[in-house]
Amino acid sequence: MSNPSPRAAAVAAIASRKSQGASVNFVEEKPEAIFGSNTFSLALMKEMLKPDTFKAIEKTINDGAKLPEGVADEVAEAMRNWAVSRGATHFAHVFYPLTGATAEKHDSFYDPGSDGRTTISKFKGKTLIQGEPDASSFPSGGLRATHSARGYTAWDVTSPAYIVENANGTTLCIPTSFVSWTGEALDTKTPLLKSMQALDKQARRILKLFGHADIARVMATAGPEQEYFLVDKMFYYARPDLLSAGRTLFGAPPPKGQEFEDHYFGIIPDRVMAFMYEVDRELFKLGIPAKTRHNEVAPGQFEIAPIFESANLAADHQQTTMSVLKQTADKHGLVCLLHEKPFAGINGSGKHVNWSLGNATQGNLLDPGDTPHENAQFLVFAGAVIRAVQRFSPLLRASVATAGNDHRLGANEAPPAIMSIYLGDQLADVFEQIKAGGATTSKQRGTLKIGVDVLPELPKDAGDRNRTSPFAFTGNRFEFRAVGANMSISGPLIVMNTILADSLDYVAGRLEGAPDLNKAIQDVLKEIMDQHGQVIFNGNGYSDEWHAEAAERGLPNLKTAADALPAFLRSEIVELFEKYGVLSEPELKSRYHILCEQYEKHVNVEAKLVAEIAQTKIFPVAAAYAAALAEGAARMKAAGVASSTATLEKVAALVSQLESDLAVLHAVHGAAHEVGDWTFKVLPAMAKVRATVDELEALLPDDLWPLPTYQEMLFIK
Ligand code: ADP
Ligand code: MG
Repeated sequence: MSNPSPRAAAVAAIASRKSQGASVNFVEEKPEAIFGSNTFSLALMKEMLKPDTFKAIEKTINDGAKLPEGVADEVAEAMRNWAVSRGATHFAHVFYPLTGATAEKHDSFYDPGSDGRTTISKFKGKTLIQGEPDASSFPSGGLRATHSARGYTAWDVTSPAYIVENANGTTLCIPTSFVSWTGEALDTKTPLLKSMQALDKQARRILKLFGHADIARVMATAGPEQEYFLVDKMFYYARPDLLSAGRTLFGAPPPKGQEFEDHYFGIIPDRVMAFMYEVDRELFKLGIPAKTRHNEVAPGQFEIAPIFESANLAADHQQTTMSVLKQTADKHGLVCLLHEKPFAGINGSGKHVNWSLGNATQGNLLDPGDTPHENAQFLVFAGAVIRAVQRFSPLLRASVATAGNDHRLGANEAPPAIMSIYLGDQLADVFEQIKAGGATTSKQRGTLKIGVDVLPELPKDAGDRNRTSPFAFTGNRFEFRAVGANMSISGPLIVMNTILADSLDYVAGRLEGAPDLNKAIQDVLKEIMDQHGQVIFNGNGYSDEWHAEAAERGLPNLKTAADALPAFLRSEIVELFEKYGVLSEPELKSRYHILCEQYEKHVNVEAKLVAEIAQTKIFPVAAAYAAALAEGAARMKAAGVASSTATLEKVAALVSQLESDLAVLHAVHGAAHEVGDWTFKVLPAMAKVRATVDELEALLPDDLWPLPTYQEMLFIK
């Protein structure tokens, strides 16, 4: 026998892999001792700063007040002392460019002294507040001419600085906003902060109407549930498509997929558990409140969710969580795939963004209590969400439109591309009553008797769960489920905050000065139901009937990014963002251009990978196999033995098919120049090549097949 193929070698290596032993010890490193230990937390600032300085910082974080001048020097000094005591040699302004990634520029704390022998560790308030990374390599979507490369990062006081550890040292990381020389936002954080400010302002108007005199800052809150896949690194490196595109561009379905539904909430494999403990430990150190972890629906798929936080902090923490997942997987010989659809025919990965708003004085404003029909304040906020989602559903859809997420939305596993709201039985009933003239009752939550004496009676929730809705009320918050696993959550949050601010503004305008507040509330809620209630749908979002009904109701069904992205250019969207000071028209346009560009770049890389892998890895083995079969057939014939040429004919036909599929791909690829071309021409041509290759995979000898198979990647760990 010849040497084992790289694939067989990978399988053998994984099978004989030894456990690395414990890398985490929660007995010696107690969670309560390590939580936040790598952050420049409020607790630490209270210890290290003068009382007045600390108060000023606290006021900025809690009330959104402007930071007084002069405070920064003292904070910088304390921050540096702390970081240096923890071994930090460098600091980095961390920012969130429009690629959706996290970026950081590192500077050392040290400056040389004049004698050539000393160094002075300096970190002034000015350096803390402002950085100046070259902006020229970050997308600006035309906001900035290439020669005017200046960009500024500005310290975000509301997101704590933290230390990132590496085996060889540590770096102090400072979350920042990133803007151009002319002040336009080049990042996701700046407009997110602006949208939170707008939402706060409008929410307070409503609260005032309900007689609240003492109102703390209203915060948008977010709790993102992150789904991801883990595959062994050995397989990953043998798959150029995973390596460069993050998803498999080929692969016949495995004999066993997810049909047994035996993975979801199943026992977590030992190796994955070890990884999860380490992820949690790293997140705890960074003050990221990781909470739940479990197997997801697809084989090899998992989920992690934190406890919700203010939207801005949640967004920063989410970005860090993605990095920690990837880095920790690497340490365990695994690769964490965050792509929305790494494997065809297997569930994709989303990021459910749980979202609400609330403050320290009034609590969660989307909490209905036990009798929502009596809770007028809650109904006003919930009604405003209904109006917002109906009016701006194309914008919501556009906020989750990426090349990766397009493979997921509407694929009968993720929510459909039609934006509708699920309210649950209780709330849907209350709003139906409002529509009919006034709400007088709330369906009550019962208790659930399981029927076994030793088991307790369980209090039932007022509404069931509905997994098929893109925008679901889940008891005291909404859950936006159409967000992709690989995306920054900031984009969707900016949209949700801004459209809700708009609706609250509208409702406040209707209620302020009304002679009879109660009547005015009834009227405006009824009007919302009449004009926007068609967006409420409590049924099965996967069904064909829903698609037909949604069309009848006039709800847009923007199936692809090519259909969805132009929403950013609509005049009502431009007006919306300008009115609430979240994004200017040029900023919005630039975002549109960047999203289109990102889409095209992704599909472009994938198209090149499909062509390359099919031509240089698949074609040679398939053609060689056809030749070998032909040779064998000829010899059999010469020996006078009857034999079938059925397989030879099939393989030979597929080899020619592959050549013609590739020719089509090359042609459409060469001619593509806008999102629609990539979506409607290039992607189908890629799919055609794939279909042929996948057929070959089922016919060729296993030991000749060059790519790790779905079965191997999904099941061998
Ligand atoms: P599910 O049952 O939907 O899988 P998980 O427990 O996995 O729920 O995640 C629910 C998420 O919703 C958590 O991150 C949780 O902290 C978050 N959440 C709860 N309340 C709020 C709120 N008021 N605002 C935002 N997010 C919230
Ligand atoms: Mg969950």
